[in-house]
Amino acid sequence: PARPSGAALNIDNVTFCYPAHPEPALRNLTLDIGAGEHVALLGRTGCGKSTLLQLLTRAYDPQAGSIRLNGAALTSFDETTLRAAVSVVPQRVHLFSATLRDNLLLACPDAGDDALCSALTRVGLETLLDEEGLNAWLGEGGRQLSGGEMRRLAIARALLHDAPVLLLDEPTEGLDAQTENQILSLLHNVCAGKTLLMVTHRLRGLATFDRIAIMDRGEIVEQGSHAAL
Ligand code: ATP
Ligand code: MG
Repeated sequence: PARPSGAALNIDNVTFCYPAHPEPALRNLTLDIGAGEHVALLGRTGCGKSTLLQLLTRAYDPQAGSIRLNGAALTSFDETTLRAAVSVVPQRVHLFSATLRDNLLLACPDAGDDALCSALTRVGLETLLDEEGLNAWLGEGGRQLSGGEMRRLAIARALLHDAPVLLLDEPTEGLDAQTENQILSLLHNVCAGKTLLMVTHRLRGLATFDRIAIMDRGEIVEQGSHAAL
């Protein structure tokens, strides 16, 4: 049974325009996500999915409407508290020419080696430790990672925060069907009890989510379980 470690997310009538861009990227968008719920956010390119994630991390604030995390306005959190509460796996994962340890520590500078190894094991990357352990050199002059391994590394980074809310922007883009399925089941597994919002273009694997929300031109136009939609 999942431990109740997630946090509720309430997005209420949010409108957002980028500076110097007259068309609103989000229009009166309302979406409520329960603590521990796993939601897929679907919609065509340019409909505002990544923008919504940006607002959830307060890279921007909405011009109208409100966002609450476990009942408290997002604007009431200081930066450190918000970072500890909401963790993000970005659309493009960056690998540094550095050791495996340093590639993980950038997400969580205080983590000890045990925590790093356990995060790698949870995402199925323990074989990276086989030869030189956390001292293994990655990137230029060292080991390159496949697309699927990069995604796993990004998820391991996010897990090190142990945040109650995890946001993912297309974490399976560019992966083959088998790797995509593996990443999805890994995510549901390691995030059991956490609140998960995953942006995707793909229709594959949606049945594994508690709910699917469909966006169009800055609004949620439909939502429900996979069976209901
Ligand atoms: P994709 O599926 O291609 O990633 P998306 O649904 O994530 O698309 P967004 O990136 O949120 O879409 O973009 C929503 C709208 O906002 C688009 O019209 C886009 O051109 C615009 N936009 C995005 N980022 C900026 C920015 N930094 N400045 C101005 N406009 C932007
Ligand atoms: Mg996007």
